[in-house]
Amino acid sequence: MSAVPESKLSTRCCIVGGGPAGMMLGLLLARAGVPVTVLEKHGDFLRDFRGDTVHPSTLQILDEIGLLAKFEQLPQHKVQHLSGIVGGREQQVIDFRGLKPFDYLALVPQWDFLELLASEGRRYPHFDLRMRHAATGLIGENGRTLGIRAEAGGRTYELRADLVVACDGRHSTLREAAGMQAREFGAPMDALWFRMPREGSDPEDTFGIVDRGHMMVLLNRTDYWQAAYLVPKGGDQALRAKPIARLQDSIAQLAAFLTDRTATLKSWDQVKTLEVRVDRLERWYRPGMLLIGDAAHAMSPIGGVGINLAIQDAVAAANALTPALLAGHPVDAVPLRAIQRRRLAPTRWTQAVQLQIQRRVISPALSKSGRSPRVPRLLRWLLRYHVVRNIPARIFGYGFRREHVKLPAAKI
Ligand SMILES: Cc1cc2nc3c(=O)[nH]c(=O)nc-3n(C[C@H](O)[C@H](O)[C@H](O)COP(=O)(O)OP(=O)(O)OC[C@H]3O[C@@H](n4cnc5c(N)ncnc54)[C@H](O)[C@@H]3O)c2cc1C
Repeated sequence: MSAVPESKLSTRCCIVGGGPAGMMLGLLLARAGVPVTVLEKHGDFLRDFRGDTVHPSTLQILDEIGLLAKFEQLPQHKVQHLSGIVGGREQQVIDFRGLKPFDYLALVPQWDFLELLASEGRRYPHFDLRMRHAATGLIGENGRTLGIRAEAGGRTYELRADLVVACDGRHSTLREAAGMQAREFGAPMDALWFRMPREGSDPEDTFGIVDRGHMMVLLNRTDYWQAAYLVPKGGDQALRAKPIARLQDSIAQLAAFLTDRTATLKSWDQVKTLEVRVDRLERWYRPGMLLIGDAAHAMSPIGGVGINLAIQDAVAAANALTPALLAGHPVDAVPLRAIQRRRLAPTRWTQAVQLQIQRRVISPALSKSGRSPRVPRLLRWLLRYHVVRNIPARIFGYGFRREHVKLPAAKI
């Protein structure tokens, strides 16, 4: 895996970042017979993960590449509907039942999911995954990217490639090195991320709770709850200056069934702050380089779609890039432009939905009015109908444009 780097290397396609976008693209290219090197700066996938929602669109891709059976062996919790508890009143809002071919979303720890993609990739001779290798910059000539500079174990080296794909997330090093700037759309919140023990008598659902200026999402991870407690943007420092009891009280107020367990949160060290950000690049490529996933468009956690959009980008990219990469000549702008054109609209529409929810639901919910919020009566009435609850399930579960794997696996 992490061999001592030679000072100069080359590959057909260099992917920077072993998150959902990078691992799926690496796997699909190697599976189609393209020599690919994936660099991941961490030594494992147990990073500061962000979410573990594997939506139907991703399940479908896993099925298409024959990985679904292995995926189903991972520890997971299948969710068919999502509820909100608003001002003490439960309201089902998203319902996957009746959707085809998958009528649920799977909650799977992201590290297990990424490890599955990595181990599948390792079956292919052209798949070279380098853990603890960090890209530090780009090599270019006359405006064309020719490769990257990287660092591993205190040594630096160059890796040349016909194409570099930046999958290095919202704080993309390569995006910065290329001087590309994303347009920021803003987010009213950040998330405090921590665990609470889960007991047999707890609710089965994964749900969000909103009350009197506080909001928390609880993800059922079978033996514990993964909690995302939302705070107004930048508000975590003020909260952290207070005793942890302040957060314990707020958790108990939102979810009374957790009252006897809030003391397991003993210090702020157990609570991570995850920055929420929504942005998008105007242009996702330049000669010799493509950006996908959060590196091209950071997604809000709303709807838990970021992983799935990153995967859809990877599938679209693999479909468009494989012929040129297999032919072994530098990739020109045509397929790169086609990838952006294909993925821009679904990204833009998904972000538009997220921004509306941020504006109309999250901002008011986090305001300090102290009043108990209520779901408007008309909406409550509409949400009684299963077909209405299917609409957000379709948008978040399958996305605005479905990608399919078009390339067969090379023989191994
Ligand atoms: C609070 C929060 C909660 C979220 N919850 C969910 C959720 O429940 N479901 C969901 O679908 N989405 C969620 N998201 C969004 C989701 O995390 C992202 O959209 C998704 O991870 C994007 O995948 P990616 O592969 O593009 O980037 P990332 O997942 O960010 O992966 C980038 C990878 O690149 C590596 N890397 C970075 N720099 C370098 C470098 N220089 N060299 C080598 N490697 C590098 C990183 O270590 C990382 O592994 C959430 C986001 C936030 C902020």
